[in-house]
Amino acid sequence: MKKILLTLSVVLLGIAASAQEAKYVFYFIGDGMGTNQIQLTEMYRASIEGRLGIEPLAFTQFPVATISTHYSASSNVTDSAASGTALATGTKTRNGRLGIDPDGNKLTNIAEIAKANGKKVGILTTTGINHATPGAFEAHQPDRGWYYEIAQDMIANGFDFYGGAAIYYEQFYHDKTPAAPIRPQFEAAGYTICNPREFAAGHKDMKKVLMLPGEGQSITYSIDCVNDTPENQANNHVTFAQLVDAAITTLMKDNKKGFFIMAEGSEIDHACHSHDAATCIQEVIDFDEGIRVALEFYKKYPKQTLIVVTADHETGGLGLAPKKPEDLALLKVQKHSMNVLSSMLKAKMQEKEDVLSWEEIKEFLGENLGLWREVSMNWEDEKALRDIYETTVAKKKAGSVKDLYADNAKIVSAAVGVLNRKARVSWVSSHSAAYTPVFAIGAGSSLFTHKTDNAEIPVLIMKAAAYK
Ligand SMILES: [Zn+2]
Repeated sequence: MKKILLTLSVVLLGIAASAQEAKYVFYFIGDGMGTNQIQLTEMYRASIEGRLGIEPLAFTQFPVATISTHYSASSNVTDSAASGTALATGTKTRNGRLGIDPDGNKLTNIAEIAKANGKKVGILTTTGINHATPGAFEAHQPDRGWYYEIAQDMIANGFDFYGGAAIYYEQFYHDKTPAAPIRPQFEAAGYTICNPREFAAGHKDMKKVLMLPGEGQSITYSIDCVNDTPENQANNHVTFAQLVDAAITTLMKDNKKGFFIMAEGSEIDHACHSHDAATCIQEVIDFDEGIRVALEFYKKYPKQTLIVVTADHETGGLGLAPKKPEDLALLKVQKHSMNVLSSMLKAKMQEKEDVLSWEEIKEFLGENLGLWREVSMNWEDEKALRDIYETTVAKKKAGSVKDLYADNAKIVSAAVGVLNRKARVSWVSSHSAAYTPVFAIGAGSSLFTHKTDNAEIPVLIMKAAAYK
């Protein structure tokens, strides 16, 4: 009897919790953020305090947590466009497509439905605002690479807030034929294009916002910011938290019916494409800090707010085998992303007329990655790097290790690889089929009771928000 009562009370609690509609919806997508990217970050945070176990992020403490599958209609390993489409429309499609099903039919997405239900809509990302994941909530295009056409769909949507690091292909169609510049088209449609500083000064008079970093500013990797000078941090970086905050400010103006925000932490994926664990960790922390802004909002409107945090896929086939805190704590010595370290090395090579000596390279890798200093190097480790040095830097070439988003210097890529191996972190792929996580809190979060799939998540959110 006791058991029956308990079960019944759980059911009733579930009904009570989902009875209130989610007037305010936050849909966070960590691009490439598999369960191990989270475990890596939380374990690293404990490791640098000399402890075993984890120091939890904010979103992993949400009361509801489950896992999700994300295979696409054309592969067991999805790309961001197909998974974004499933997360936005509830229908799986072929890799590369945005808002179009495998037969070429247009799919309505949750952001469009939210708008039709009278909600204000914000789409934000730490990468190009017309890149694949935001594009899945903005556009209907047969190819994720049709950036100009995606930007035109953004204008046609008329959403209230867009924020990102750039607009790709501002003056060219996908086939590179010239097109009318896109920014004036946004302005003609009523958007104020501003950087965060201009937004802070003048948002009261802005109706629709397209927030992009201003001249000299860009959304760089967080690791390249947290290790930068305070002045550069203030001038040259936009955090995910700043974007989330600006979106809330914009959407809460004259807001009667609520809002829908999709916010993507995009560069987790980029760091993992480069197999760069220290950079990935700071991106997950940056993502978490944006979610903390939403959590503060939730505390003001707990019965009307739903926050869902998930990912489109895992990137890197990340493996973790750190045994003691000293393993992952090694990653703390890395001062910049692999990407920026490659640029720094290339600049150093150009500055010097002579060839950089092996001693100078050791100094550079010691200074920025702790090799031969905090990170002990055996004969094989040194030989592997020395061999690369002889065939690249000693021949005045940087060499090239290309991934989807970067072209890194060969010796930097290998040196970061050494550091990751010493930290007992391994990588096997670009995107992988590993489960992705789902965390939820607030109105309707109790709907996420079971192992789910990327195509089911928007269906559950629409149910929680009572979209028609
Ligand atoms: Zn992705």
